[in-house]
Amino acid sequence: MSMYSLTGEFVSPTSERAFLTHQLERTRSLLGFTLLFCVVFFLSFFATDVAVLGLQAALDLTLLPRLAVGLVAGVCAWLVYRRALSVFATRLAASLSELTALGSFMLIVQHRPQEAHWHAMSLSIMLMVIYLYIPNRLTYALALAGCATIVFIGLVLNLAPMEAADLLTMSMLLVLVNTFGLLGARRYNQVAREEFRLQLDLKRNAERDHLTGCYNRRYLHEHLLGAELARARRCGPLAVVLCDIDHFKRINDTFGHHQGDAVIRCFAQLLQDTVRAEVDSVVRYGGEEFLLILPNTDLAGGRQLAERLRAAFAASCMTVEESREPLQATASFGVAGADFARPGSHTTLSDLILAADKRLYDAKRNGRNRVETIELA
Ligand code: GH3
Ligand code: MG
Ligand code: MG
Repeated sequence: MSMYSLTGEFVSPTSERAFLTHQLERTRSLLGFTLLFCVVFFLSFFATDVAVLGLQAALDLTLLPRLAVGLVAGVCAWLVYRRALSVFATRLAASLSELTALGSFMLIVQHRPQEAHWHAMSLSIMLMVIYLYIPNRLTYALALAGCATIVFIGLVLNLAPMEAADLLTMSMLLVLVNTFGLLGARRYNQVAREEFRLQLDLKRNAERDHLTGCYNRRYLHEHLLGAELARARRCGPLAVVLCDIDHFKRINDTFGHHQGDAVIRCFAQLLQDTVRAEVDSVVRYGGEEFLLILPNTDLAGGRQLAERLRAAFAASCMTVEESREPLQATASFGVAGADFARPGSHTTLSDLILAADKRLYDAKRNGRNRVETIELA
């Protein structure tokens, strides 16, 4: 999950989308609050228009641009709070509000050109708010802030000529504000994404087995057992498959633990590649023993899958560093299925796993490299 050095955003669009979706609630509340604050700030500064231009001129010249900001930012804030806006919509709301505020600000500068220093200060504050407080894509913020800075300097040049040294100082200060705004926003982006990456790592380490990437027993007991049982009570059939590599101790003894690990990884990969992604769950149940949970699958479906896995694993050849001969292994499978939505059914997922475990032992007893099944009432 690498990041762009200029913006601090993830390079991978999938990771960036996952991050933004994860952040959406926080983004919405920050955007709504900041926009409301901006509305109050922008409207209350009408008082300075009255002080400089007089009431009638202020009403004629600056009230409309100030109301436009109040209206656009206010409606955007209302939408952000009342509707669950998407990432795209929050960015649109942010950009629209920023654009309206900067446009109105330029109009006010035109009507009060003699106060260029004060306007430069106001613009600096606005730029900081755009970079750091209004959540938006950094490239959009940079484009808006950069253009606004150039337009403002152009306006001052045309409307209120000042000493070259003054103009240079003002321009340098505005460039500095843009630079620090950009650096601050980039730092914030990086820190927020680092935190997200750490959270994902922690979650993965807590839920998954290090060797194979399959779910671990803890995740099975803390989450899967309850969630899958609830789903099965609503939807009906569910099958579990318990599988174990045959004579695995021999593989360890012959080729060493390192190769044993490789065989376990290979078996786990086969299981993960064969089941339905995002539907079925693969759990490392023990050393070289795995549990498959198959929602919406009856016993026949579970048996079919187990047969397919058995045949595929028995046919696969794993190359082994320590031996010239390819390593072949087999596995045995116990399958149990039940209709959980059947009226009066008191079967639990633990009952089903226990039944599959018994059938796995039967498969071992009956010669290994085979599938045994049982239907629970
Ligand atoms: P069976 O056909 O009856 O299953 O015989 P088996 O030899 O496979 O017996 P069993 O399933 O009891 O063997 C499990 C062995 O797996 C014992 C243990 O040393 C080994 N093992 C457990 N975890 C790991 C691991 O992470 N890596 C390696 N390399 N070996 C492991
Ligand atoms: Mg075994
Ligand atoms: Mg075992």
